Amino acid sequence: MNDVDSADKRRRPLRLGVIATVLTGALLLLCCTGGTAAFFLAGLGGDDAENGDTLAGMECGPVRPVNITGKLPRFTEYGDAQIRNAAIIIKVGQDMGVPSRGWVIAVATAMQESALRNLANSGVPESMALPHEGAGADHDSVGLFQQRPGWGTVAQRLTPAYAARKFYEKLIKVSSWQRRPLSVAAQRVQISAYPDAYAKHEELASRIVDALSGGAARTVEINGQAVCDAAERGQIAASGWTAPIPGGVGSGFRTTERPSHNGVDIGAAKGTEIRAAAAGRVLVATCDPDYRGKRDCDVDGFPGKEGCGWFVDLLHAGGNITRYCHMMVQPFVKEDQMVSAGQVIGKVGSSGNSSGPHLHFEVHLRNDRNSSGAVNPVPFMRERGAPLRAAE
Ligand SMILES: [Zn+2]
Repeated sequence: MNDVDSADKRRRPLRLGVIATVLTGALLLLCCTGGTAAFFLAGLGGDDAENGDTLAGMECGPVRPVNITGKLPRFTEYGDAQIRNAAIIIKVGQDMGVPSRGWVIAVATAMQESALRNLANSGVPESMALPHEGAGADHDSVGLFQQRPGWGTVAQRLTPAYAARKFYEKLIKVSSWQRRPLSVAAQRVQISAYPDAYAKHEELASRIVDALSGGAARTVEINGQAVCDAAERGQIAASGWTAPIPGGVGSGFRTTERPSHNGVDIGAAKGTEIRAAAAGRVLVATCDPDYRGKRDCDVDGFPGKEGCGWFVDLLHAGGNITRYCHMMVQPFVKEDQMVSAGQVIGKVGSSGNSSGPHLHFEVHLRNDRNSSGAVNPVPFMRERGAPLRAAE
């Protein structure tokens, strides 16, 4: 079962031509195996190890109303006035009954448009005479969301609560906005000239929403209720993340027994649908060669075979990368394709260095596909409200 070690001794480079700006030359692709026996054994004992309270600092409770006049949490990226503007945006969303995904989208949009500052416009004299927090010069746009005259009077657009309300009114009219990638949802509201500018703010916007509202970015809207840590089976947390498959983690990240296991193994029946953990772009969708350099991913692999089998790497906002190994058949996505959170990208199998059907799932930071970029997916996913449940 501990057969990944043999694979580690014979690391092979995997050649890519996809993200040349991020990576040059050959890459190391570590892979995994087994762990499924441990999973099934542990699974028989039930999953009562699931207990969010043991994970300190990862609050997700009843969503609390934002207090815009009280003391606010501090962020190194923004000053008090900017966080207060974020609080106003969230409060308006709460008062309107907009699900928390909308608060994340709205905060991220204001981050992009104004850096959360209520901007006047040097080309709009009337705006300069009203209270403001700096001045822009983009067309005739003003305010947190840089809204143009069609959205209201200058005074209205320079009133943060008004600007936020107008933003939400348009957002909730975008069909399936809760399931769309943030940049798509935001852009349909804003009609900006910079298509991918919004998504890069999604991570910090989620943290701000969490800090101000008691973990709302970690919730999923189910039957009108904000539910914590329930983002799986296609449900998407307000953070924009979802668990790739339901099921518990058997073999963990860099354990004592498997120090070079750079992901987690989630046991699942063959053919279980694997979902993109967040919106992003496909970096790789291919059959990883085995120790002989052979690409025969349509057959089940075995421990010692090496390779990820059929696998997919996705690049998400903020330089996060997720990896999905050992798929049963060729992935359903192609390189450079954009995917949305929860989109089915393949099926659980046992191709490559694997002793039985499972998903080997990795998370990497900083655009780093190498093992040096890998982090433990368990806390990463939990912080985003899309936990991988513990089976041990
Ligand atoms: Zn693994």
